[in-house]
Amino acid sequence: MTRTVYVNGEYLPETEAKVSIFDRGFLMGDAVYEVTSVLDGKLIDFEGHKNRLERSLKELDMTAPVTMDELLEIHRKLVELNEIDEGGVYLQISRGADDDRAFEYPDPEKVKPTLVLFTQKKNLRNSASADKGYKVISIEEMRWARRDIKTVQLLGASMAKMAAHKVGCDDAWFVEDGYVTEGSSNNAYIVKDGKIITRQLSNKLLAGITRAAVLRFAAEAQMQIEERLFTIEEAQAADEAFSTSATAFVQPIVEIDGATLGDGTPGPVAKRLREIYLEEAMKLAV
Ligand code: PLP
Repeated sequence: MTRTVYVNGEYLPETEAKVSIFDRGFLMGDAVYEVTSVLDGKLIDFEGHKNRLERSLKELDMTAPVTMDELLEIHRKLVELNEIDEGGVYLQISRGADDDRAFEYPDPEKVKPTLVLFTQKKNLRNSASADKGYKVISIEEMRWARRDIKTVQLLGASMAKMAAHKVGCDDAWFVEDGYVTEGSSNNAYIVKDGKIITRQLSNKLLAGITRAAVLRFAAEAQMQIEERLFTIEEAQAADEAFSTSATAFVQPIVEIDGATLGDGTPGPVAKRLREIYLEEAMKLAV
């Protein structure tokens, strides 16, 4: 089926949507993005994604070409036009296309940002990966120093995932100065003696919207949380591990660098958090 996508004010068939070859998203990775999940035709955690988008834009001296209310309407319209019951909406804002390639930012009065959105149909709730659990490898951190900004510079993430797949694993966790920063496209957690441990926020990792929600729900459920650094060795000796992201929610992890966690099946804390997240996030869905 040909999707209807959104490009700079227009709803078009995906085959007719075009962006300039001089677009800075294409030439320089000068663009930010968000992915919002859709369940039962509704947007999950939209408020969080909207707030993080505004922050990413601000950090890069960019402005959105539409208001945040208009963005919500575009999301909703695309979900409706493409009959998305379950899946996601991808949004990208680049600094736009000048009339030539240059390192310096163009004059924002002259060059307007490029706004693109499209939908993806996917099964998210009933996931074979969540039932089975992921095997992850560790990989030396190789991305830039502002991982708190959600930019489209994702080659590091792609390389990490390919390295994992090459050795029969599902995903990779980045390690810097001996400590886990985050997963290739998710935040990383371990569970020891019932306590949920995850790295504290900084510019070394993305402030996951799912992370914020899961930690809030876990605190409400009286679970213990510790935000601190942890190593791969500590993760291998943990009772459980899991990752969180907007599209995978809470993804249990059953193996890290060849070491099996627990009995090699998804742990009870990860399973419970997945249930709580889905239940609570649906209540706030728009
Ligand atoms: N960390 C990285 C590097 C990511 O790419 C993502 C999601 O794409 C996350 C963490 C999780 O963020 P969120 O829960 O907002 O999807």
